[in-house]
Amino acid sequence: MSEPKFRALVVSAHPDDIEFGAAGTVAKWADEGAEVTLCIVTDGSTGTQDKDLMGEQLAALRQDETSEAAAVLGIAELVWLGHRDGYTEYSLDLRRDIARAFRRYRPHRFMVMDPSSTVEDRFVNHPDHRAVGQASLDTVLTAGTTPGHFPELLDEGLEPWRGLRELWIMGPGSKPVVSDISKTIERKIEALMCHRTQVGDDPGRVAGFVREFSAEQGKEAGFDYAESFQMITQGPGFHDEAELEDDYLDLSKPPPDPRA
Ligand SMILES: [Zn+2]
Repeated sequence: MSEPKFRALVVSAHPDDIEFGAAGTVAKWADEGAEVTLCIVTDGSTGTQDKDLMGEQLAALRQDETSEAAAVLGIAELVWLGHRDGYTEYSLDLRRDIARAFRRYRPHRFMVMDPSSTVEDRFVNHPDHRAVGQASLDTVLTAGTTPGHFPELLDEGLEPWRGLRELWIMGPGSKPVVSDISKTIERKIEALMCHRTQVGDDPGRVAGFVREFSAEQGKEAGFDYAESFQMITQGPGFHDEAELEDDYLDLSKPPPDPRA
């Protein structure tokens, strides 16, 4: 394979999280020549109402489903951190685990979950999403970018990474930066359908909901389908534009902010 145009690392709490909020954009990045790694923090072992399925059996099924979905989206590598689904707490161990992936994969684009506890006064954000989102954000400011934080990672040969260009915060809800996924909406839905243990007996209904929501997200910017994000492009751990030496780095144009 030729040198990737840029590297992207996506951190999610659960195996199917990105299919709802970010898979169309992730597939687009892969199409544009990015090397995309998806790091999944939990084992997905409790995501069912079926008492006979929950636990190790479900975790194994979800690994297979996720590999299928990743192939559809063009994700190059999956990293499983193996935390217990539903029990994720913000901890230094969690922050270290995410920092390990951040330093290893050295992303130019880092996509993380929204740690807000409630979303647009409509629903409560999953506690795993909150913990994983917050630890991912904090990795950018400390654990991933500064040698004195978790010096044991230096012993593993993992130097701080200070080449980040863009931090993307994925749904849920509507966010200001709109990414056109009109060309990848079908793959987003196909990837979602790979998560058979999650889409239930009526996958068509779930697909319909995702299509409708994606259309709604794109309306204001004039896209058929879209996903929306918050984006941060500067901070102490971010790449200094003046010192840019990655000449192969070719990020596609950032998506428009209709409110700007
Ligand atoms: Zn989730």
